[in-house]
Amino acid sequence: MVMTQRIAVLGATGSIGDSTLAILAAHPQNYEVYALSGYQRLDKLLALCQQFTPKRVAVPTSAVDEFAQRLRSVGLNTDVVGGQSGLIELAKDSQVDTVVAAIVGAAGLPSTLAAARAGKRILLANKEALVMAGQVMIKAVKTHHATLLPLDSEHNAIFQCLPAAIQQDNTQIHDQSYGVRKLWLTASGGPFLRKSFTQMQQAGVAEAVKHPNWSMGQKISVDSATMMNKGLELIEACHLFDLNESKIKVVIHPQSIIHSMVEYNDGSFLAQLGSPDMKTPIAHALSYPKRIDSGSQPLDLFALSALEFIEPDLQKFACLGLARQAMQAGTQATTVLNAANEIAVAAFLAEQVRLTDIAAINEQVLNEVQVPLLDANSDIDDILAIDSLARSYTETLIAKMV
Ligand code: NDP
Ligand code: MG
Repeated sequence: MVMTQRIAVLGATGSIGDSTLAILAAHPQNYEVYALSGYQRLDKLLALCQQFTPKRVAVPTSAVDEFAQRLRSVGLNTDVVGGQSGLIELAKDSQVDTVVAAIVGAAGLPSTLAAARAGKRILLANKEALVMAGQVMIKAVKTHHATLLPLDSEHNAIFQCLPAAIQQDNTQIHDQSYGVRKLWLTASGGPFLRKSFTQMQQAGVAEAVKHPNWSMGQKISVDSATMMNKGLELIEACHLFDLNESKIKVVIHPQSIIHSMVEYNDGSFLAQLGSPDMKTPIAHALSYPKRIDSGSQPLDLFALSALEFIEPDLQKFACLGLARQAMQAGTQATTVLNAANEIAVAAFLAEQVRLTDIAAINEQVLNEVQVPLLDANSDIDDILAIDSLARSYTETLIAKMV
C-alpha cells in the first residue's frame, strides 16, 4: 500500500514552489497538497488553490479577509491564516507530514524552526534559516526527532554522496572509519565569471539576474552574481554536515553538471551529476530513500563539452571570504551578514546601489555592528533582534550612499 505524504509548501508561489508542485502534480497517489503559502503573488496562489485544493493556505495578515472571499467566490472553503503566526501554524499542523521550506530570506526562519520543533520532515530550500540560526535549528531537529533533507542542489548532492550511516544519523561525519576528508561545493561562477570587476560594477539588474544555468528567484540570482550564494551555502553546509568551514572547499564549475562532491581519505571523490534542474533534488528529498521520476531532462552525456574547474577569485567575489570570516566568528556574525546582504540586494534591485557595492556594504556592516554572541541555546527572539539591528544599520549606511 502506498502511504500518502501530506505536504505543506511554504513559498508555493516562488521558483522552488513551482518545481515542487510540478512533481507533486505528477504523483498524486504519493502526495497530498495539504497547505500552501504565498505573499505578493496572490493571483497565482488562488490559481494554485483551484488546481490543488489544499485544506489550508497562508497569506499576509492584511490579505486574509479578501483572499478568503476570493476563495469562496470560486467555490473553495480553504481555511485562510495570516502572517508569520499563520505560517507557523501550517508548519506545525498535526495533519502535515512534510514541510517544504521555500520562503526566501529571513522571513522563512520562524516557520522552518516551528516545523523542526514539531518533529516534521523538512525539505529545506530556505538556506537563510540555517545561516541565521544554524545551531538552534540543528538542536531543534535533534531534540524533536525531525528530519532535515536539503533541497539546495549542492547540499542535496553531498547528502547523496555520503555513506548511508551518516545520512541516517547512525554515525557522525567525524567517524574516521567512514573516511570523509572534505566536502566540495561547486559554484557556477554566475554571469560575471568571465567579466572584469569594472563590467560587474556597471551591470544593471537585468544582467545580474540572468543566470547562465539556473532559473531562480531574484534574490538568489543576485546572490549568485556576487557569489554570496556560495558563501551562504558554505555556512549552510557547515551546519547541515557538522563540519568546520576549513573542511569545505568551493570550486567553480561553470557547466553546473556536477552539483557537489565528497572527498574520501582513500582518494575517492564521489560526485552527483545531473541537468541543472531543481526538480531532481526536490524529487530526491520528497521520496528519500526511494526514487521517483522528477520530470527533469536526463543528462545527455554525449552532448557535454569539457567540464571545467576553476579556483574562485576572492577579490572579485569578496562575499565568499566574508562568509568564511563570519562562520569563524559565530552565529551572530552569520546572522548579521545575512541581514546586511538581504538589505543590500534589495537596494541593488531598487537600483540604489551598484552590484559591487553589495560586498562592500556587507563587509562594513559585518565589521562594524556590535551584537551579543549567539549559540545553540539562544532564543529565536535573540536572533531576530540581531537580524533587525543589522538591517537598520545597513539601511542607514545605504541611505548615506544614495
Ligand atoms: P522566489 O523569490 O521565487 O520565491 C520566494 C517565495 O517566498 C515566494 O513564494 C514568495 O511569495 C515567498 N515570500 C517572499 N517574501 C515573503 C515573506 N516576507 N513572507 C512570506 N513569504 C514570502 O525564491 P526561490 O524560490 O528562488 O527561493 C526560495 C528559497 O530557496 C530561497 O531561500 C533560496 O535561496 C532557496 N533556493 C532556491 C533555489 C532556486 O533554484 N530557486 C535553489 C536553491 C535554494 P510571493 O511570490 O507570493 O511574493
Ligand atoms: Mg545552491
